[in-house]
Amino acid sequence: MSPLEEHTLAHREKFIRRIEKQGGKSVFDIPYENYLRTVLWIAIRDWVVESQSGKCAICDHKAAEVHHHDYDEATLLGLRSSGLVGLCARCHELIEFDEARTKRVSLDDKRAVFEKLASEFTCLKQEGFRVTVERSKLMINLEYVGNEDFLKFIHCSSLAYIFIIKQFSRSEMTFPLPFGREKLQQKSGVVLNLRKSGKKMAAIKATPTSIQIKLTKTCVYPFEESLRAFLELEPFIKVVQ
Ligand SMILES: [Zn+2]
Repeated sequence: MSPLEEHTLAHREKFIRRIEKQGGKSVFDIPYENYLRTVLWIAIRDWVVESQSGKCAICDHKAAEVHHHDYDEATLLGLRSSGLVGLCARCHELIEFDEARTKRVSLDDKRAVFEKLASEFTCLKQEGFRVTVERSKLMINLEYVGNEDFLKFIHCSSLAYIFIIKQFSRSEMTFPLPFGREKLQQKSGVVLNLRKSGKKMAAIKATPTSIQIKLTKTCVYPFEESLRAFLELEPFIKVVQ
């Protein structure tokens, strides 16, 4: 018996008895939405995520959902795990929906997208998320200069968001709350003030492919150094000339 079979054995027996009691013959005799609420499915799902150490099978983020490559009886009953894969919400969405937000139906199409994303992420790990950082007087500019495919996995605006949260949430700087990625994409960007005096230090703006930090003339915070130190520590980021 495979580890998944063993893990789900008691739930499967109960599930089959329940279907028979309702006059059904197989797992296909109950609506799929109801299946997704069964203890059997929850046990299968948890086992799959655990078997991947909680990480998305494509991008290493936290796996939040389990995707079906197959909907055959053995997969649905927890007898076979090869048709199941734990994914983060973002990767799952990229598989389930095309660019026009239309739901993909064909399992072969979805499998192809899965393979493509997995190979793109492998390339990203090899090549790195390549950016340039330039400073001119009061302006610090970060530009993404790598492969466009990788923007599915990382956006410069997410980087800017993490930078601000990590750097300033417990320091002498304040930023407007509630604070989210959208604020960085606004025209005025996010203004950072000194906590003590309330003096404006910089405004940070971001797009998917760039980050702009506009310093004030009286800025005393070493933004360029701290941004470079932050990028150094971020996995996959590669600062190029
Ligand atoms: Zn993912």
